[in-house]
Amino acid sequence: MRTLDDLDVDGRRVLIRVDFNVPLKDGAVADDTRIRAALPTLTELRERGAALILVSHLGRPKDREPELSLRPVAKRLSELLGTDVQLAPGVVGDAITQSAHALSPGEVLLLENVRYEPGETKNDATLASGLAALADVYVNDAFGAAHRAHASTEGVARRLPHAAGRLLEREVTTLNGILEDPAKPLVAVVGGAKVTDKVAVIDRFLEVADAVLIGGAMCFPFFKAQGHEVGDSLCEEEGIEPARRALEKAADAGCRLELPSDLVLGDRFGADAQRKELDGVDVPAGWMGLDVGATTAERYAREIAGAGTVFWNGPMGAFELEPFAAGTRAVAEAVAQAPGTTVVGGGDSAAALQQFGLADQVTHLSTGGGASLELLEGKRLPGVEALA
Ligand code: ADP
Ligand code: MG
Repeated sequence: MRTLDDLDVDGRRVLIRVDFNVPLKDGAVADDTRIRAALPTLTELRERGAALILVSHLGRPKDREPELSLRPVAKRLSELLGTDVQLAPGVVGDAITQSAHALSPGEVLLLENVRYEPGETKNDATLASGLAALADVYVNDAFGAAHRAHASTEGVARRLPHAAGRLLEREVTTLNGILEDPAKPLVAVVGGAKVTDKVAVIDRFLEVADAVLIGGAMCFPFFKAQGHEVGDSLCEEEGIEPARRALEKAADAGCRLELPSDLVLGDRFGADAQRKELDGVDVPAGWMGLDVGATTAERYAREIAGAGTVFWNGPMGAFELEPFAAGTRAVAEAVAQAPGTTVVGGGDSAAALQQFGLADQVTHLSTGGGASLELLEGKRLPGVEALA
């Protein structure tokens, strides 16, 4: 993978794919984390004498909905960069090519939402060529979109000299490092809602990790496979067979696959639900497991504290509901305090860290949920492959 160190950008126009797919509220950016994550690349390229043309998607527009315009992002980025960021009225075309060619070094032009163009997600050749016509070189810093072969991630990279931006470079290096040369013991903590989303990652970690700790609703297909009662817990039927296979694989692989030994139950999914603690994992009818119990949380926290490398993806319970947040909080605090390398992936896990004020205390907080999982599964990411 080529990086910014391999590119000559002085006096050139650089098209940069960024991930500005941010939450909006009342016409303004509600959380600018993703915009700030792009600043190292943008600042470096401006200092090195490049003119910047930025391209990003926002949401899933069907018909150029004005509420999915990147205008609020242009405003926030102007504030963060301390320079005026112009918003182009579209993505490609003669007028936009002219504006791009008129840029002076250090100036920044943000293209409109690239998914206003139906060709984007189809990796359309005309759109990719239109994007390539705007610039001399291409940089991809949108790790969160790198698992998709789209015109702005893959097609355009084939048409211009290219490199990874600093953010994408760090994502790929850090995540590959976990698999290739982790400080041991390597502990993976996997939670969240659905086993089928993450079974391939669990599988991979069973081969390379010393322990895989399971939490969240993810544990119920495992318990079902072991013959336990799960009551009304969220238990993905299609997850039971993969869970059974993972249990078998763990037994052969020399990797400990750890499951909760106590749970916190609610009588329904809500912050005002009745709550009770269960020393065991057989959930009675009329109740659902909404968090791991305190004993499990302590056990997991000890594993994390003793690890050389920790990868965490997926909350331990319904952490959005305060009565069921303790398990996730305990794991988040353990990850934040761990002396080893700590890498966190997944949108909800990142949100949990933020909610507990711990986001800046991990070694690496991945910006790409789906992309980080696919990379760890061993899949090739088209957006990354195109940067070779
Ligand atoms: P991430 O985005 O970090 O990959 P997921 O999207 O897989 O995580 O899972 C997060 C969701 O899982 C949260 O909305 C959380 O409420 C839900 N969840 C976790 N544990 C449970 C549980 N025991 N019962 C119901 N929902 C759960
Ligand atoms: Mg999620």
